[in-house]
Amino acid sequence: MSKKISPLDVFNLLPKTNCGECGEDTCFAFATKVADRKLDLEQCIPLYQESQYKEKKDKLEVLLRPAVREIRLQSKENEVRIGGKTVLYRHEFRYSNPTAIAITVSDTMPEDIMLAKVKKASDWEYRYIGMDLSLDLIAIRSSSNDPIKFRECVVKVSDVTNMPIVLCSFNPEVIEQGLITLKGQRPLIYAANQENWEEMAALSKKYECPIVVSAPNDLNQLRFLTVSLMKEGIDDIVLDPGTLPDEGLRDTLNNFTMLRRSAIQEKDDLSGFPLLGTPISAWGLDEEEPEIKAWKESYISSMLLSRYADVLIINNVEMWSILPVVIWRTNIYTDPVKPVTVEPGLRTFGTPDEHSPVLYTTNFALTYYTVQEDVKDLDCYMLVVDTEGISVESAVAGGKLTADKVKETLDETGIEDMVTHRKIVSPGLAARISGETEIASGWDVLVGPKDSAGVKSFLDKNFYQERT
Ligand code: SF4
Repeated sequence: MSKKISPLDVFNLLPKTNCGECGEDTCFAFATKVADRKLDLEQCIPLYQESQYKEKKDKLEVLLRPAVREIRLQSKENEVRIGGKTVLYRHEFRYSNPTAIAITVSDTMPEDIMLAKVKKASDWEYRYIGMDLSLDLIAIRSSSNDPIKFRECVVKVSDVTNMPIVLCSFNPEVIEQGLITLKGQRPLIYAANQENWEEMAALSKKYECPIVVSAPNDLNQLRFLTVSLMKEGIDDIVLDPGTLPDEGLRDTLNNFTMLRRSAIQEKDDLSGFPLLGTPISAWGLDEEEPEIKAWKESYISSMLLSRYADVLIINNVEMWSILPVVIWRTNIYTDPVKPVTVEPGLRTFGTPDEHSPVLYTTNFALTYYTVQEDVKDLDCYMLVVDTEGISVESAVAGGKLTADKVKETLDETGIEDMVTHRKIVSPGLAARISGETEIASGWDVLVGPKDSAGVKSFLDKNFYQERT
């Protein structure tokens, strides 16, 4: 486990002028957020602009350097960061920089189909428990091996997407055409291998772009390539230990795991770079149907997400295969000590009046959005009780959802003045506190269903009928 950085250690090396240029009131507030990796050190402007602080800045950069190097990829308008990991297991702290997902197109695809795929990947989004999920990168493959054809393809792709780009070819002449086209941006070069590494290293230095080293299922070769690039003065390196589907999957997962363990637990500098997986390799299995290839690509992606991949290169952008991968990524990269929450308080659905039902739930985002989906077409009020992001059953068991908390929410929202009745529908899983809630609040508690999908029929039978 990596050593936790103390805010005091950071504070002692800051200018300590409390100038506020970082947006924080004091240097100590800034130090606390930097130590917790919520702010970047570069946001302390004087530290970087005034020569008197250079020594302190250098010391801070060493102190804060993550075990896995953080690398920035840039388009004209967007930046995607990869790597920057400090722990092996997310419960030790939290993972930073969610795995970047790159969707692939090729320079031999018909132009209309290729551009439609780029647009689909760029516009792809899915709303999940209050978060807008999206994809990150476009990977352009040179299937033609023709530098001019590749350049034309890169021009067309960069005209229709704001995503940073991965340039994919083992031919340095092809890659250089892509780099010339994207000058001023920061694409990822894929890839240097045993045959081409010297020319590729020269391109990485000339265009100041990060580069992938590739050695499928050969960690010794991967180390040799990494050392060779580092000797050339290149620091922004991404490691591709190969992604082998089917029988090769065990070796693939072992390689990813060994590299990340070496980086974090053994502080091995040669392993301390972001890892790149290519689940697209499932499409190289000749005998399979396209749906099977897409399904294999999807589960290989999820396995590599769990085994430390920082970038994934994927072919299929259909919702059924990409959504499970993106949802899994979201779950892995949420902060394990800070559940995803929504604001507590009052919500209204439809056009409720003084006779409409009042329900309550907790502010755990997954619970809230599930209930919201089930009641959004009703005319009702919903109180969201602050349970510190804990779900109903756990919150009742842990004393985070109590009769007093429900009463507090009733009082704070002023719901008493909005309805003429005094009935509140509780989640079925909070039945245990219904009696206490009636005593504490003076409201009648109708214990609703355990599954919010049953709320509508519950109200039909137990609320509206009673009213008539
Ligand atoms: Fe302190 Fe730097 Fe922030 Fe100024 S910008 S308050 S010196 S941390």
